[in-house]
Amino acid sequence: MKNRNRLISLEKRITSCKECPRLVDWQKTVAVNKISRYNDWDYWGKPVPSFGKENAELLVVGLAPAAHGANRTGRIFTGDRSGEWLYRALYEFGFCNLPESKHIDDGLELNNCRITAALHCAPPMNKPAVTELNNCRQFLIEELLLLKRIKVIIALGKIAFDMVILSAKELKLTESKNSYKFSHGGEVRLKNETVITGKLTESMFNKIFKQVRTIIV
Ligand code: SF4
Repeated sequence: MKNRNRLISLEKRITSCKECPRLVDWQKTVAVNKISRYNDWDYWGKPVPSFGKENAELLVVGLAPAAHGANRTGRIFTGDRSGEWLYRALYEFGFCNLPESKHIDDGLELNNCRITAALHCAPPMNKPAVTELNNCRQFLIEELLLLKRIKVIIALGKIAFDMVILSAKELKLTESKNSYKFSHGGEVRLKNETVITGKLTESMFNKIFKQVRTIIV
C-alpha cells in the first residue's frame, strides 16, 4: 500500500478510535451541550484526524483539538483563536492557500505542511491524562513513520514536545547521547529533523516560521 493510502487508513482509524473512554464521553457531551454562539452548528464530536499532505517537509504538532474549535468543525486548529494565528502565519510563510480556516469545506489546502496533535480528542480543561497521551502516541509514531520527507517539526507546548521526543526515541530518530530540553522558541536536532518549540501566541508564531524558513526554503 502506498504511503498516501496508509495515511488515509490511519486517519480513518483515528476518527473511529474509542481507546480513551473519558475523552470519548467528554467530546460527545460537549457536542450535545454546545455553547450559545455555536448552537446552530452540528458538532463533529469525534477524534479529529491530522490534516495535510503525505510528502510534507513541515509537521506541526499541537496539544489537542479545542472543545468548541476542532471538536466542532472536525479539522485540526479550525474554529478557535490559536488556529486563527496558526493559519495566518502558515499563509504568510507560504504553507497554505488561505489566510484563515473557518470550516472543513472552506477550500483551505496546506502546502508542504501537515498538522497533527499529541492527542486527537479534546480533553476536559485541556488536561489529558498520561494514559490518554500514551494511547494516542501510537498514532503519532505511525504518522512519523509514514512521513518520509519531514525536515522540521514544530511542537506547540511542552506536552507536544515531550510526545514528539518520546516518539522519536522509540523510532530511533534521536542521538542517544543527547538530552532534549523544552524551551519556548528553542530548537533541538534529531538525527535528520529539527524540532522547534513554541507556545500559542501570534508573535511566537511569526518568530517560529522565520526559523522554519531558514531550513525549508
Ligand atoms: S485520544 Fe487518541 S487514543 Fe484516545 S480515544 Fe482519542 S484518538 Fe483514540
